[in-house]
Amino acid sequence: MMGALQTFVCCPDCGSLARTCGAISTTEVFAGRLLDKPIEGGALYRCGTCHLGFRWPRLSKNEFDALYAMGGDQAWTSSVDSRRDWRLGRAWISQNLSPGASVLDVGCFDGGFLQGLVGSHHCFGIEIQQQARLQAQRKGISLIGHDFSDVAGQFDCITTFDVIEHVEKPVRFLSRCLDAVRPGGHVLISTGNLDAFTFRMMGSRYWYCTIAEHISFLSPIWFDPIKSEMGFQIEYLRTFTHDNALIARRLKELIANTIYWAHPALLGALRIIGLGEKDVRRHPMLAQHPPGWWTARDHFMIILRKL
Ligand SMILES: [Zn+2]
Repeated sequence: MMGALQTFVCCPDCGSLARTCGAISTTEVFAGRLLDKPIEGGALYRCGTCHLGFRWPRLSKNEFDALYAMGGDQAWTSSVDSRRDWRLGRAWISQNLSPGASVLDVGCFDGGFLQGLVGSHHCFGIEIQQQARLQAQRKGISLIGHDFSDVAGQFDCITTFDVIEHVEKPVRFLSRCLDAVRPGGHVLISTGNLDAFTFRMMGSRYWYCTIAEHISFLSPIWFDPIKSEMGFQIEYLRTFTHDNALIARRLKELIANTIYWAHPALLGALRIIGLGEKDVRRHPMLAQHPPGWWTARDHFMIILRKL
């Protein structure tokens, strides 16, 4: 799929020229599963017109679908309180939507987010994984579709947690979500923040880029130029970390990433002699793969109100 790194390519959303921010590392994991054959990362680009960050080249939709399908029917479980953005989202919905309001969670997984709203709100989900769908249904969630293309209706609120970074054209996806809420209804998006300090520091070598299924990278400023044309206003915005770990873990990740930022080859050498957290014996070319930075405050949650 890969060729030489191009300096400019066309933005998949607005068609303007986007400049490269550098190559993305090869990865050996897809949807949490270790692959036999690593996937080349391509490069990170950012559009100067619409601010979208994106991976290019990308796998084709057929290649993605095949990889998602291989991830298949593993045992999906998620605890209702396991994610910070879920807790924030539920608190906002409880305070701002009337009991009985309809909420559609796109990419609802096994219903972990909606589970806390069943009983007080009408809960609907869209999910592709069969095993996860069954678990969501057992929790009282009505499944209305499998894929982004099934987003339709007139809901009071649509939520999407860690979904938009997987879609090819985020503007088209957002437009579909806005079409499927009533006027005055809300769309909640939770995703990685391309303008987080740690993301800007590491650029295309940031851990978040190395997740092969992440192809679109947003930040809060992406929403500004499209507000009036798409007919929404921003009602809530905050940044957060997915992993509120103890100081020792935070420090360890900060040190690993700083070493990698300054001298990638040094971290690679440490891994080859078995001192890194990553086992590179199976795929030695991954020795210089970026370290994780799970404790970074590199996500944001935004809630839009349709005008
Ligand atoms: Zn663009």
